[in-house]
Amino acid sequence: MELEHRGIHRVRLPMPFRLDHVYCYAVEGREGWCIVDCGLNIPSARAAWEEFMAAHNIAPRDIRAVYLTHYHPDHYGLAGWWQEQTGAPVYMSAVDARLAGLYWRNCRPAAEAVRELFVRHGMPPPLAKDVIENMLELMATLSPHPALTTLEPGGEAMLGDLRCRVLLTPGHSDGHLCFYDPDHGILFSGDHLLPKITSNISLWPFAHPDPLKNFLQSLRENLNLKARILLPAHGEAFTNLAERVEQLLAHHRERLALMRDLAAPGATAFEVSRAVFGDRLTLHEERFAMAETLAHLVHLVGRGELTVKNEGRVRVFAARPR
Ligand SMILES: [Zn+2]
Ligand SMILES: [Zn+2]
Repeated sequence: MELEHRGIHRVRLPMPFRLDHVYCYAVEGREGWCIVDCGLNIPSARAAWEEFMAAHNIAPRDIRAVYLTHYHPDHYGLAGWWQEQTGAPVYMSAVDARLAGLYWRNCRPAAEAVRELFVRHGMPPPLAKDVIENMLELMATLSPHPALTTLEPGGEAMLGDLRCRVLLTPGHSDGHLCFYDPDHGILFSGDHLLPKITSNISLWPFAHPDPLKNFLQSLRENLNLKARILLPAHGEAFTNLAERVEQLLAHHRERLALMRDLAAPGATAFEVSRAVFGDRLTLHEERFAMAETLAHLVHLVGRGELTVKNEGRVRVFAARPR
């Protein structure tokens, strides 16, 4: 399918991480343009958008709407910048709008809650402090903040001339949205379905207590979609939805089995994280490794395969006694 015939343009925005890009989409329709996801608010990302605007002769007033799949910085970061220039509404789910408020507008208490969670699960306090400082640096790049308009899951959104269904796909974030055009079989999949890497599924304070359960359920529901092409935020467009869903379900089955075995004799989440992800991580990666490990361990507790209890100041997971 020639995406540009449908008005869809992919814009590659740089990121200063090992995951070095985020793909955003600009969709041209009869009434103007809309943007799907924004990129981090860093000079090189703003320059990439300005270059795209100039190349396609787009004036700020031509931008009619900004749609965000979810609240993470690489998607939300430039939303306020877009709104300042264009006056366009910025749409997101109500659930993720709440999390954006909690995490990005009021970042100290949120960062402190993450630090406490990590220390309680065995991360050495000096490392937890560094991880949180690194998180606060990223949070500082998110202003100006947009005024958000919430989108109802199950409703419709016009992306250019594409009439899309708004699909709630919780897991990667509690209020993650995908935009699905059933007439053309196009799915804007955000970070929910990625072609190569697996979406990070993380436990965070103030958010859902079992995000992996949500993610696995979202994946199973996606098997009913007749999407012919998926447009993800990281990696290339892809077509094998059902096969990819099966791969992701298998990945998490294996990861759950591995973490269950590592935790069975008694281990903190930090010990399991180190055993799985190693100790040569950047602070940014350390945060995601720990939160991802926690998401799997609490899911195993929820399924009755592990228990967790306090030992001194830390929480220790172990096999459920038979
Ligand atoms: Zn994300
Ligand atoms: Zn992302």
